[in-house]
Amino acid sequence: MARITWRGHSTQELLSILRLRWSYMKHCWHSLTFNAHMNSSYASDVCLTPIFWFVDNYTHCLGPFFVVGVAALTTSVVSIAYWIGLPFWWAKSQLVTYFLLIVGNWLLLNVVFHYVMAVITPAGHPPEGVSLVEAVSMCGKCIAPKPPRTHHCSICNRCILKMDHHCPWLNNCVGYGNHRYFFLYMTYTTLGCLFLILFGLEIGHKYLWLDHGENWTEIEPWRGSQSSLTSVDTSFQ
Ligand SMILES: [Zn+2]
Ligand SMILES: [Zn+2]
Repeated sequence: MARITWRGHSTQELLSILRLRWSYMKHCWHSLTFNAHMNSSYASDVCLTPIFWFVDNYTHCLGPFFVVGVAALTTSVVSIAYWIGLPFWWAKSQLVTYFLLIVGNWLLLNVVFHYVMAVITPAGHPPEGVSLVEAVSMCGKCIAPKPPRTHHCSICNRCILKMDHHCPWLNNCVGYGNHRYFFLYMTYTTLGCLFLILFGLEIGHKYLWLDHGENWTEIEPWRGSQSSLTSVDTSFQ
């Protein structure tokens, strides 16, 4: 009668088998996934693909909200200047206040005008149905000739002449048609910010820095007056 004999492995044998299996698995994995062209920029491109996809597909939808955001931000800054800055300078010197009102409103007018113009002016597209002798290449997405310095905007889904970038704050591309308005909008916004910082510095220093605590209206229970401490104590009981 045949007898079953059990052949046991020693610990050393088991370890060498496991080592062999592990290296076999590693080689299998590398043979399936190795790519000679793999580098850090390719890997980061792959990782950022969902963000690119989101920007390409949703920036156009979010554009109007960005424009409303710019309008709200500008309005709030101007309101604060009138609410806090105007009485401060009026009490100081009426002549200076008139000067600041003229300069400030002139800057505001320029900011608003150039912003609106940058939003509503088309960035410019290559002409259709005409032969362009200047065209140096073809756009693979529009299947149309591309004049020099023309780029395809994946958000507008069109070729843009002398394209600078797609600006979500304008909900528009910055290109040949509106580059001037965009540049002047940036210039006047910078000047406006410098104007506010320059003439708001004294207000900030006097009323927010030096007078902190004296005219502080918010209740700070643990460092406030005796009465506020008492009221907090009783509220806990
Ligand atoms: Zn194109
Ligand atoms: Zn665009």
